[in-house]
Amino acid sequence: MSYIEIDSLETTLSSDQCIKCNICTASCPVAAVTDKFPGPKAVGPQLQRLRQPGALSQDQSVDYCNNCGVCSLVCPHGVQIAEMNAIARSVQMDRDGVPLRNRMLGRPEPLGKLGSMFAPFSNIPLAIPPLRWIAEKTVGIHRNAPFPSFTRRRFRTWFKRHQSDNIIGRRKVVYFHGCSTNYYEPRVGEAVVKVLEHFGCKVSIAEQNCCGLPMQSNGEFDAARENAKSNIEKLAPYVRENYIIVGSSTSCTLALKHDYPNILGLQGRDVDLVAKNTYDIFEFLAELLEESDIDPRFRQVNEAVFYHPPCQQRSHFMGQPAIRVLRQIPGLTFEVSTADCCGVAGTYGLKAEKYQISRDIAETLFAQIDRNDPERVLCDSETCRWWIQGHTDVNSVHPIELVAEALPR
Ligand code: SF4
Ligand code: SF4
Repeated sequence: MSYIEIDSLETTLSSDQCIKCNICTASCPVAAVTDKFPGPKAVGPQLQRLRQPGALSQDQSVDYCNNCGVCSLVCPHGVQIAEMNAIARSVQMDRDGVPLRNRMLGRPEPLGKLGSMFAPFSNIPLAIPPLRWIAEKTVGIHRNAPFPSFTRRRFRTWFKRHQSDNIIGRRKVVYFHGCSTNYYEPRVGEAVVKVLEHFGCKVSIAEQNCCGLPMQSNGEFDAARENAKSNIEKLAPYVRENYIIVGSSTSCTLALKHDYPNILGLQGRDVDLVAKNTYDIFEFLAELLEESDIDPRFRQVNEAVFYHPPCQQRSHFMGQPAIRVLRQIPGLTFEVSTADCCGVAGTYGLKAEKYQISRDIAETLFAQIDRNDPERVLCDSETCRWWIQGHTDVNSVHPIELVAEALPR
C-alpha cells in the first residue's frame, strides 16, 4: 500500500486568507486566560510567514496552543489555524527534541497494555502524593492532574466472548474502540455494541492501534504517521467489504476523518476511503434512527444530567447528534454546557506548566456544573470526562452509556 506524504501546503498557505478580523483570538480559550499565548491570529497566520523554510521562527508560544480547534471553527475565511499550529509545534519539536514527558503522554497504547496487565496494582502509584510530587518535579506531569484507573478486564477480551458474529445485522459496522475503551473504560465499548446490535447492526472489531492523536498533539508527527498508516491498512479492507467505521471517542474519529489527511499530510485512495466512511457513534445513531424512522422505544429514565459536547466533537462539523438522540429518552432532562472547552484538551492540562491554564479555562464549565448540580455529566471525550470527574466529583460517563441503559428490556 502506498501513501503520499505532503507537507500540508494547503493548510499552511491558508494563512494568506487571513483578514486580521481577530474573531479567532476573541474565541480562543487559552488566550483568554494567559499572557503566555498571544492568540491564534498572532501565532497562526501571522507567524506562519516567518516559518517558511530558511526562516524558522524561534517563537515558542505555539506550544501553549491546546489544539482545541475552536479558532479553525470560527474563522470566517477558512484559515486552518489549529492545524497550522499543530504542524508548527511538530517542526519545533523536531528542532528542539521531544521531551520525555511528551513521549510518555503520547503513548496510551503501550502504557495501557502494561497498566492493565498489572491492574489494580498499577493504579497505586498514581494515588500516592509523594510519588506524584516526584513525577511533577522530574518529568513535568502535574501532581493534581486526574488520571483514569487501568482495568484488568479489557474490552477486546469481553468482545471475543460476546457472540457478536452470530448476530445477523442489516448494517455492517466495524467499531474503532480506541485505547481508552480497551484499557480504562470497557463499559463504554460494551454500551456501544449493545446499542448498535439493538438497532440491527452487525458489529465487528478490527485489529487497531492508537489513532496517533496523542503523539500528534505532543509534536511527534513521524510516530503518529506510523500509527495512522497501520490503522488505514487495517480498516480500509473493511470498508471495501461495505462496513462503516464507527468510533466512540470523538478525538479518535476526528483523527481518522480529518487529521490523517489534513494535519499528518497522508494522501491516497485508502486514506480517503477511511476518512469518508468514519462516523462518530452519535452521528451514525442519530442518522440511523431518523432515516429508518425507527421508534427506539426507550424506557423512562428519570434523571437530570448535564451534557458537555467536547471541542473535538464540534470540529466534526456534525452539529450535536447526541442531543438528537438523548431528547428521545422519556423522563431525561439535561442542561447543555455553554463552555467551549473544558481545558484539558487531551494531555495538555496534565502538564505541569499548563495545568493552571487548563484549570482557569475550566472555570466556566465547572461553575455551570456546580449551579446545575446534575446526577451525572455526559461527555463524548474520555480525557474530558476524566478531567471533569476529577475536579467536580460528579460521575462522568459517555452519553452512549445512558442510551444503553434506556434500551427496552
Ligand atoms: S478569524 Fe481567521 S481571518 Fe480572522 S484573524 Fe483569525 S485567522 Fe484571520
Ligand atoms: S486551537 Fe484552541 S487554543 Fe489553539 S489557537 Fe486555536 S482556539 Fe486557541
